[in-house]
Amino acid sequence: MDQSCFLCPRECGTDRQLRSGFCGAQSLPTVAKVMLHQWEEPCICYGGGSGAVFFSGCQMRCVFCQNHAISQRTCGDPMDTYALADLFLKLEEQGACNLNLVSPTPHLETLIPALEEAKKRGFSLPVVFNSGGYEKVSVLCRLEGLVDVYLPDFKFFDPVLSHTYGGAADYRERATEAIGEMLRQTGSPRLEGEKLLQGTIVRHLILPGHTDDSIHILDHLCGMLSPKDIILSLLRQYTPMHRAKEFPKLRRKLTTLEYHRVAKVADALGFSRIYTQEKESATEDYVPDFQKNN
Ligand code: SF4
Repeated sequence: MDQSCFLCPRECGTDRQLRSGFCGAQSLPTVAKVMLHQWEEPCICYGGGSGAVFFSGCQMRCVFCQNHAISQRTCGDPMDTYALADLFLKLEEQGACNLNLVSPTPHLETLIPALEEAKKRGFSLPVVFNSGGYEKVSVLCRLEGLVDVYLPDFKFFDPVLSHTYGGAADYRERATEAIGEMLRQTGSPRLEGEKLLQGTIVRHLILPGHTDDSIHILDHLCGMLSPKDIILSLLRQYTPMHRAKEFPKLRRKLTTLEYHRVAKVADALGFSRIYTQEKESATEDYVPDFQKNN
């Protein structure tokens, strides 16, 4: 049966029965790592930790990707619907506070039935859809009612940057539409104490030498939604990794001055819930070890 894939804005149309798509995904999902993650935003990381399932492959091509060991090649064992449902139930048994699907889009044809199967068997954790933000609205619509928390990045504003650093000149348009749809599904954040039950958290990794682009993103977000409708997570953890050294501005970490410049603008624009990071987060120590299974 033809399995031409059009799940992400690349629309590469690859028949994944025959070969891997642009994203590296084959016909079945490959899980590169499963862990109880302790370093996500506090509202989605409590109790036993966030039950993170890292899928290999990605529709973006970020030159600084901290997960490049799994995002730009296929690794891990292929898993079918039932194996994934078993895995989700096991994470719940282990005390995960949610199921955190990392880079799930290329695998949705298996993931959606796996979530439905797990729910049939009693799975009850909130589901977090953790993605780079380069998504198609028509595909996100298929997740309505299955996802509780969307956790997209908004990486770039300038198309030259998104093309050069992420391999996607249309990133801004696609991320804008995607976040609009995510917000339509979740509504504004619904919290129980400090625990996020439903909502959208937009992450932005500030890049060294590119604070103007970060500020354009914040302005843009405010133009498209009420800053009270999302939780903003301003990431300071940029560390030159992967191919970053090929790009002069990306060869260093972010300065304190740069981070504060962007954080101040976010504050002034009225984002009511903002997560910030300490300077110490800019280290490879916070990157999961993809060589180890747990
Ligand atoms: S998800 Fe992968 S295979 Fe499918 S269209 Fe996107 S890049 Fe191509």
